[in-house]
Amino acid sequence: MMDIKKIVILGSTGSIGRSTLEVVERFPDRFKVIGLTTNNSTDLLLKQVRRFKPTYVAIANHESYIKVKEILSLEGCHVLEGSSGLIEVATLKDADIVVASIVGSAGLIPTYHAIQSGKTIALANKEVLVSAGDIFKKIAEDKSVKILPVDSEHSAVFQCLQGQNFKSIRRLLLTASGGPFFGMKKENLKTVTVDEALCHPNWSMGRKITIDSATLMNKGLEIIEAHHLFGIEHKNIEAVIHRQSIVHSLVEFTDGSIICQMSNPDMKGPIAYALSYPERLDNVMKQVDLISIGTLTFEKPDTQTFPCLMLAYVALDTGGSMPAVLNAANEVAVDMFLRKKIGFNQIPVIIDKVMSIHNPVHSEDIDVILEIDRWARVKAREVIER
Ligand code: NAD
Ligand code: MG
Repeated sequence: MMDIKKIVILGSTGSIGRSTLEVVERFPDRFKVIGLTTNNSTDLLLKQVRRFKPTYVAIANHESYIKVKEILSLEGCHVLEGSSGLIEVATLKDADIVVASIVGSAGLIPTYHAIQSGKTIALANKEVLVSAGDIFKKIAEDKSVKILPVDSEHSAVFQCLQGQNFKSIRRLLLTASGGPFFGMKKENLKTVTVDEALCHPNWSMGRKITIDSATLMNKGLEIIEAHHLFGIEHKNIEAVIHRQSIVHSLVEFTDGSIICQMSNPDMKGPIAYALSYPERLDNVMKQVDLISIGTLTFEKPDTQTFPCLMLAYVALDTGGSMPAVLNAANEVAVDMFLRKKIGFNQIPVIIDKVMSIHNPVHSEDIDVILEIDRWARVKAREVIER
């Protein structure tokens, strides 16, 4: 019998966290959950604890921790709190793999410590690589830690690259669904509502990434993520609109061949691949019915209407701390849009303004990046108030 992999899920109550638990539930002889974390979704965490019996849980939010610490202890698990609690769960001695599925730069510190402690990382939390990709790559190398992609595009590229020589890569083509506002022009986007933006055509995800998909910032963040994961220059990474979300990305090689990965849009696929790599598990996703899909289309993204994609290229090209500023300003702008404080078209304007007043620095210190992240959030709020 093979060993059971012991898993920690950072952000178990989110969309990726819940899909990860579905995979674990389907393959109980392969995986055992030993640690879970949440920000404040305590009711769901309690259900997860009762179902999966982890030894440790951590709750980031203080009030939430106070509310459920006793009832969770009665379930027989150690209950930890705040940033130090998250770090403790992220570095549990017995853990074989840590699923990084917190949203935003809130995931930086626990993921950083998980890598420091030598854990294999299944990475969904792309903001971590966007903000501090150079630092994370370096410590992962130093610690011989594998960072396995969970993001569907990066999982696709990773799958296409198995057994290939990286020197033969010409381009990465990351596919994008185009989001709910595909085909619209800037003028029409002025008045779109939060509910319309949250209505993604093909994927059901957390609120922040759903808005990022509508602005195309998600693809911008993914280009930066791909640059760090695969060591490809940004001029060789492109986004292509593919409305059907069946082809999850493509790799073009120097001989002119393209290899792509296809499946139905279901995050359980890339999650299961990261958890079981290099093996594949049986019947993770519904089979693709190519005949009923019939047509697969590919189009150029409209960067006039969706400037966030270009801002991400600028940030990556500028380098240093600029991608961290792009990310932090985006997190604030998306949050303000979700609270109905700003319009959809203001999101890229705010990010652009904060980037334009930042003098990028190159640092190997994660604390410097965190400080710049905080600075960019303050500036983004100032820009919004003006
Ligand atoms: P989500 O909002 O559904 O879940 C986020 C999780 O993070 C929750 O468990 C929440 O409790 C936790 N969290 C939030 N703020 C926190 C804080 N300050 N401290 C500690 N924990 C905190 O998000 P999601 O859609 O699951 O996305 C998670 C990450 O995965 C994001 O980086 C996203 O870009 C990436 N991703 C998601 C999908 C998807 O299908 N949902 C696909 C690809 C990549
Ligand atoms: Mg993706």
